[in-house]
Amino acid sequence: MLKKALINIDYTYDFVADAGRLTCGKPGQEIEKNITHLTKEFIHSGDDVVFAIDCHQEGDVYHPETKLFPPHNIRGTAGRDLYGSLQEIYEQHKNDENVHYMDKTRYSAFAGTDLDMRLRERGIEEVHLCGVCTDICVLHTAIDAYNKGYLIVVHGNAVASFNDAGHKWALEHFKHTLGAKVIL
Ligand code: ZN
Repeated sequence: MLKKALINIDYTYDFVADAGRLTCGKPGQEIEKNITHLTKEFIHSGDDVVFAIDCHQEGDVYHPETKLFPPHNIRGTAGRDLYGSLQEIYEQHKNDENVHYMDKTRYSAFAGTDLDMRLRERGIEEVHLCGVCTDICVLHTAIDAYNKGYLIVVHGNAVASFNDAGHKWALEHFKHTLGAKVIL
């Protein structure tokens, strides 16, 4: 049987809460139930769940995002907490064998991390993507997954962006350019 993993991207306070530093706001908050439900489904069926969470250093002058975005997901701050009920699910299951939390420093969860090795050693062929932002970190993770030869499923009702046009564009790009299944 095809082995799959859910890559849960950046669903944190800074990216989702009203007072978050780089928030998607309402569109982000509206997917809370879906992303939590999806995460529980994977955990309970024994499939792998990877929380791939942005981690930046305060005042990092060398990081390319410093010129582009306000400071966000700074190491050691509550801005990196998972948002809402997703944090509860993570707390309940963080010691489970199939649940893994990792820091990432770039848009893609594959950039400069051991994610690819981790998936391959488990024989995972299909990655499922959820989280924020559809057209930034989810998109870049999907592109890397495509280049590495993974099958890709994007959960359209569990991704969001602060840019509605970008969100819609990315959903089309997943399907028509990356050959992903976009399920709602
Ligand atoms: Zn970032």
